[in-house]
Amino acid sequence: MKALDELTFDNRFARLGDAFSTHVLPDPLDEPRLVVASNAAMALLDLDPAVAETPVFAELFSGHKLWAEAEPRAMVYSGHQFGGYSPQLGDGRGLLLGEVYNEAGEHWDLHLKGAGLTPYSRMGDGRAVLRSSIREFLASEALHALGIPSSRALCVIGSNTPVWREKQERGAMVLRLAHSHVRFGHFEYFYYTKKPEQQKELAEHVLSLHYPECMEQPEPYLAMFREIVERNAEMIAKWQAYGFCHGVMNTDNMSILGITFDFGPFAFIDDFDAHFICNHSDHEGRYSFSNQVPIGQWNLSALAQTLTPFISVDALKETLGLYLPLYQAHYLDLMRRRLGLTTAEDDDQKLVERLLKLMQNSGVDYTLFFRHLGDEPAALAVARLRDDFVDLAGFDAWAEQYTARVARDGDYSEAQRRERMHAVNPLYILRNYLAQNAIAAAESGDYSEVRRLHEVLSKPFEEQAGMEQYAQRPPDWGKHLEISCSS
Ligand code: AMP
Ligand code: MG
Repeated sequence: MKALDELTFDNRFARLGDAFSTHVLPDPLDEPRLVVASNAAMALLDLDPAVAETPVFAELFSGHKLWAEAEPRAMVYSGHQFGGYSPQLGDGRGLLLGEVYNEAGEHWDLHLKGAGLTPYSRMGDGRAVLRSSIREFLASEALHALGIPSSRALCVIGSNTPVWREKQERGAMVLRLAHSHVRFGHFEYFYYTKKPEQQKELAEHVLSLHYPECMEQPEPYLAMFREIVERNAEMIAKWQAYGFCHGVMNTDNMSILGITFDFGPFAFIDDFDAHFICNHSDHEGRYSFSNQVPIGQWNLSALAQTLTPFISVDALKETLGLYLPLYQAHYLDLMRRRLGLTTAEDDDQKLVERLLKLMQNSGVDYTLFFRHLGDEPAALAVARLRDDFVDLAGFDAWAEQYTARVARDGDYSEAQRRERMHAVNPLYILRNYLAQNAIAAAESGDYSEVRRLHEVLSKPFEEQAGMEQYAQRPPDWGKHLEISCSS
């Protein structure tokens, strides 16, 4: 265990120099205080969880103090936003404080979001408000606990600094951890500004730090692109299998590591709806739930475009072609497991599709359906879940197919089935209304609900005593909440 002043820095991105990022000091928040910290994220830095409660912790992560070895930098990037190219974005309110390595030798970027103005702030104020910082914190840690690759969050620090959005709010900072903060948009920036030398330097940086095994391949850049395609296919398969809607899949929000990155108006689906749009400014549904799959490919092709100076178009196209089949294989594998199946049959995809259609037509709760399906043997479980469906004949036909399929799958005890299914079907999910309740309490100075919700979501598959209220369908007011996109 380390004390806060014992972190070891090695700022490799900063060393790429001024073409890639700009030195900026964080602008401190007034009267910083700890809102919530993640013990699991603290452990990634070998930090003793007790240090989160010390005043110096809140000072460090609100811009009042800085380690001597930290090199705070605002990164430059660009990206396609809602399909159109934005030539200059960059960190408008987030700073890479430095890169720290732990005792296991893992490197983690410390990124402070809401740290004040940078050369890339454009019309913005460089700040983040408490509600969006809490949402990013809860989502990062909850996704990780579900086994979905994501950036992590160490803590949220609240303050008295006034920040103006639709109304006056309070500024906060969230400390994000990731092995890299390089986005697709970094590659786009150097490609569209016609800086092939720097583009190459960036690619070499990513290769040597994050894809060293690709350097052994005959075409290292192509091998790296293939890895990125594979990781994105797997990440998006997990989003779809668990009902996660990102909401702003612009290429500047896509990580080069295939991790969920940059949280805005995201949502987990409550009642299943393939056409669900969580971002209220997404009028055309570009980033709707089901569109995440083709948009994943669109974003990868935007990245592929930036690699055309180094790789043949044919090779890039061929590699891009791996995305859909890989996505489908991962998705089907996960959905089979969610249904409690251990073997594969040709018609499984249809079994899943029919179920989703029935759930869609009846507005069935996506998370709880799968959880309860594993509570009992298949025949008993479907009999109990039947009441949630409007099209009873349709559900009965599906249930008959499903129970027959389960019978063919294998002969296992009720306990085995339950254990296997509960290990992949969460009881607790970050529902928008739960986040909203926690935020409302935090905005009035009570952080206990954020902390409890974070705790519950850190073990989503484990039934926790006294936490029944987190495992319910949302109340009517809590469905289809409009989450503000200003953050
Ligand atoms: P986002 O929608 O959070 O992914 O941000 C898109 C771009 O706008 C990024 O370059 C951000 O750094 C920048 N940005 C977002 N909010 C602010 C803000 N309040 N002040 C300055 N820049 C911002
Ligand atoms: Mg962003």
